[in-house]
Amino acid sequence: MEKIYMIPVNDAYNEEGGCPICRLRDKSEMNYLEYYLGPSLMEPDTRKITNKTGFCPVHMGKLNQSVTNRLGLGLMMHTHLKDFNDDLNPKMKSAIPAKAGLLKGRNSDYKQKLNAVADLIDKRTGTCPICDNMNEAMGHYVEVICWMFSHDKDFKEKFLRAECHCLPHTALLLRQASKLSQNEASDFVEALYTNNSQTFDSLISDVEYFTLKFDYRNTDKPWGTSKNSIQRSMRFLSSDGRDFDEQQSKKQS
Ligand SMILES: [Zn+2]
Ligand SMILES: [Zn+2]
Repeated sequence: MEKIYMIPVNDAYNEEGGCPICRLRDKSEMNYLEYYLGPSLMEPDTRKITNKTGFCPVHMGKLNQSVTNRLGLGLMMHTHLKDFNDDLNPKMKSAIPAKAGLLKGRNSDYKQKLNAVADLIDKRTGTCPICDNMNEAMGHYVEVICWMFSHDKDFKEKFLRAECHCLPHTALLLRQASKLSQNEASDFVEALYTNNSQTFDSLISDVEYFTLKFDYRNTDKPWGTSKNSIQRSMRFLSSDGRDFDEQQSKKQS
């Protein structure tokens, strides 16, 4: 089993609170953002990739928020735009439907051409090397998590004590578990199931308490653990925490 993935996995499970796999994802995202904003941006091999792919909306936003290497970002954007234009421009031009004249008649071929150009745009704007690299890293991480669960007693304990595994990452772990032997999968999925149902139970009860706090008779009761239960539920349901931090709702109230 690859050791380079074990250290970050252990670190993520050593930290308290939330989903450890979300922490692994955030760290790996940070590393790749730094990588693509670093000297690699000027390397021909990297540029060959980013000229073709650009970045997805989420990662363009994160690259934009970063204050480092604005020049590199500009150079990357310049050659990406040129590459995109060279690819799209002739195809889009040739897809302009000819006007149906009296002699020429109608030609439904243009519909196919327009959809093909739209597909090309969707495909190109949907590709992102940061997403690709992260997906690959996450694949290694869940593989290591399953392996350590059955081979490392300390890690198994940490896995059982994890506050939660968010639902998208539970799905990732279930898919990985489907590749294990039946006995290994049995222990692992039972632990995952227990963790998952405990999270559901505690969130359901916290969110219910949150709503009951709006009853004037409960005004003086303490919030307990329910105060941020909406945000915790959002993070559990979707794993992506961009707008689900407690600060956002404080601003509104
Ligand atoms: Zn997660
Ligand atoms: Zn991306």
